[in-house]
Amino acid sequence: TCGICVEKCPFDAIEILNLPQELDDQPAHRYGENAFALYGLPVPEEGKVTGILGPNGIGKTTAVRILAGELEPNLGEHEEPPGWDAVLDAYRGTELQDYIESIRDGEITVARKPQYVDQIPEQFEGNTRELLERADERGVLEELASRLSIEPVLDQAIDDLSGGELQRVALAATLARDTDFYFLDEITPYLDIGQRVIAARLIRELAAEEDKSMLVVEHDLAILDLLADTLHVAYGEPGAYGVITSPKSVRNGINEYLGGYLDNENMRIRPEAIGFEEHAPRTVERGDTLVSYPDISKSYGDGEFSLTVEGGEIHENEVLGIVGPNGIGKSTFARLLTGELEPDEGDADLDLDISYKPQYVTIDQRMRVDAFLSSITDQFGSSYWTTEIAQPLQLERIMEQNLSDLSGGERQRVAIAACLSESADLYLLDEPSAHLDVEQRVQATRAIRRYAEQQDATVLVIDHDIYMIDLLADRLMVFEGEPAVEGHAGTPQAMRSGMNDFLANLEVTFRRDERTSRPRINKPGSQLDSQQKREGEYYYAP
Ligand code: ADP
Ligand code: ADP
Repeated sequence: TCGICVEKCPFDAIEILNLPQELDDQPAHRYGENAFALYGLPVPEEGKVTGILGPNGIGKTTAVRILAGELEPNLGEHEEPPGWDAVLDAYRGTELQDYIESIRDGEITVARKPQYVDQIPEQFEGNTRELLERADERGVLEELASRLSIEPVLDQAIDDLSGGELQRVALAATLARDTDFYFLDEITPYLDIGQRVIAARLIRELAAEEDKSMLVVEHDLAILDLLADTLHVAYGEPGAYGVITSPKSVRNGINEYLGGYLDNENMRIRPEAIGFEEHAPRTVERGDTLVSYPDISKSYGDGEFSLTVEGGEIHENEVLGIVGPNGIGKSTFARLLTGELEPDEGDADLDLDISYKPQYVTIDQRMRVDAFLSSITDQFGSSYWTTEIAQPLQLERIMEQNLSDLSGGERQRVAIAACLSESADLYLLDEPSAHLDVEQRVQATRAIRRYAEQQDATVLVIDHDIYMIDLLADRLMVFEGEPAVEGHAGTPQAMRSGMNDFLANLEVTFRRDERTSRPRINKPGSQLDSQQKREGEYYYAP
């Protein structure tokens, strides 16, 4: 090791020499001797949305606590913190000078949306309306409730809300405050694409119309692209040190991040680039038909929700993406396939061994991760399993921990590994991106894709992260209808027609980045948006 990384260097030996220059400089903050150090700070701007892109554990929250005036940065002098005046001196002449002056003078007010909304019910007793009324300093409760579709749950106890409802209520409560500075730590978990786009537009409007400063951490790259005006990339060694770059344009920041190389910093952050295909993957028939299923229907209770599934075929050795809004029956379909639910009509019993990772991962046994995984596969510890599963899913450093002590993202990675390690005919992953940071999503996508190719496995993936679906899927199954009332599942189809069906329902179009072919959401009503809608090409525009 080079003395900075706590573990084996993730890059080639030559890269060890390529340490960031910032490490010679003074950090903004160091928690203690040999403790985490943060280099660089993001620059909030009035009227703008500033994004931060980077893995967890890299110092994003530390930076925000500094900018919120909650944590006095010590400039690395952890034994004798030099105080705000020294900090101001250190930043004199930089873009942060005015901002730091205001923090020193106690003039900054801050509203924050926490990353883990699941914890809100533990902190708040009462119903949605009470929570929102308490936060509503701007008098916008009704407008926010309507735009974020939370009216149906206004009188519901916070305890009873689903993950997606809690996320929208937390966002509304933050945006209803009247402060100078808003910090939003991930807005997309549990939201479907339509809800993500609405949330992004609300945040942009508040910045532009009320001249507020917004700082957003987001791991869904398509949404980050739509949301932010400028972008700081955060990199380093999670838990050891983090560097926050100077602001980049959002386009360059995301392109450099995906390319694995930061231009201005002259820094490689990943050995390989992540690439998108400009045109829809050819509809190669990957293998024969694994299974064909008939039309199926299923309703709950006395018809509160009903799902109809159009019959279709799943091919051997394909990755089939499954997309559609929340509450439309995707998980119900998954549970029909696994035999956990009985259909009303049609026979969904596929006579297949299915390995299933549910949406909400609950593995709370008191058992160590290594013991759990080795009980699933005798491949555990083999060089193949280690290279293809453990390394990309970053399991090595949590092998000795207990399952019940894992964080949301750690549990998700163990669950994906467990699902792929089973020997099965069909692998079914429900929302593998949830709780993963951007780098973990990239690595998990790669692991699932490579596994499917090398093991001739057939994989079904339900997810709302459009980049993940694009990189993973060979074909697409599209769900539509009216959430919580009735859903319809179309037969599996080619990526191009599938994306067109799916995005036409949402009225969202994508263009291609000229340099990298990365899909980018078009501004509604822009020339390209209108043209692509006319031509019916929502995603893989020629
Ligand atoms: P992020 O928001 O990017 O996930 P954080 O800023 O929360 O990162 O944390 C960065 C690192 O600093 C982590 O390794 C964390 O354990 C460490 N850290 C955070 N707060 C403290 C503290 N009060 N004392 C010591 N270390 C801390
Ligand atoms: P998705 O996975 O697309 O979000 P689900 O299949 O989880 O959708 O749910 C579809 C609808 O069925 C939702 O309105 C949900 O509340 C309802 N639902 C799910 N499970 C049950 C159940 N066991 N009993 C009654 N209603 C249910």
